[in-house]
Amino acid sequence: MNAEKLSKRLERVSKYIVPNGTLSDIGSDHAYLPCYAIESGLTSKAIAGEVVEGPYQSAKSNVAERNLASKIDVRLGSGLSVLTLGEVDTITICGMGGTLISQILEEGKEKLSGRERLILQPNINAESIRAWLQNNQWNLIAEEILEEDEKIYEIVVAEKTEVVNLSEAEMLMGPFLIKEKNQTFIQKWSGELEHYKNIMKRLETAQQNEKNEEKKSELVHKISLIQSVL
Ligand code: SAM
Repeated sequence: MNAEKLSKRLERVSKYIVPNGTLSDIGSDHAYLPCYAIESGLTSKAIAGEVVEGPYQSAKSNVAERNLASKIDVRLGSGLSVLTLGEVDTITICGMGGTLISQILEEGKEKLSGRERLILQPNINAESIRAWLQNNQWNLIAEEILEEDEKIYEIVVAEKTEVVNLSEAEMLMGPFLIKEKNQTFIQKWSGELEHYKNIMKRLETAQQNEKNEEKKSELVHKISLIQSVL
């Protein structure tokens, strides 16, 4: 992957960047997304934040090689701590687990002015992001699900507008994705359903105790939620 030929996943993320503003990409290994956003004229300025020295150096050298250092500021630090309040229009956090993305948002809450657009791309557990957004009065404005290299990814886009409370199924599977119910969505949740049913089978043959009974009733609930949508 390079900035000219961005992955399909990051190319889809880039569609939601607020035009002509400042982008901040947090966890910006190689700074591919900021480079692409500047080179294709989506934004005029960008900040690439990275917490690990190696990826930070890769981002810095990639930006320098492309002569973009005057437009992309590469900053070393954890999560939103590299930002000052109100300096960006779009924040992207991509290619991590949903729990880590939610943790980055929670730890960096005071750096959010509420005027930004958040574009979050979890590899797993998008549910925890939807829960964080709802608990912090951010509203979903778009979602996407896509497959690339036999992996399924979700993209969750949010702004601080009037909050619509999500149902349990919407929290788990995504309100926009449920409405669209495309082939990739069906493939993902059919797979999850099989996975939960297999766990259920194993629990049924396992020793009966309070902990297993609790797990079984959680699974029954999850299975019926997914079946109600599919
Ligand atoms: N965002 C890129 C993408 O989607 O292709 C890179 C994803 S890579 C799997 C995750 C990157 O996030 C790693 O470079 C990692 O060091 C960085 N990262 C993890 N936790 C972070 C944090 N709290 N703050 C900033 N960067 C973080």
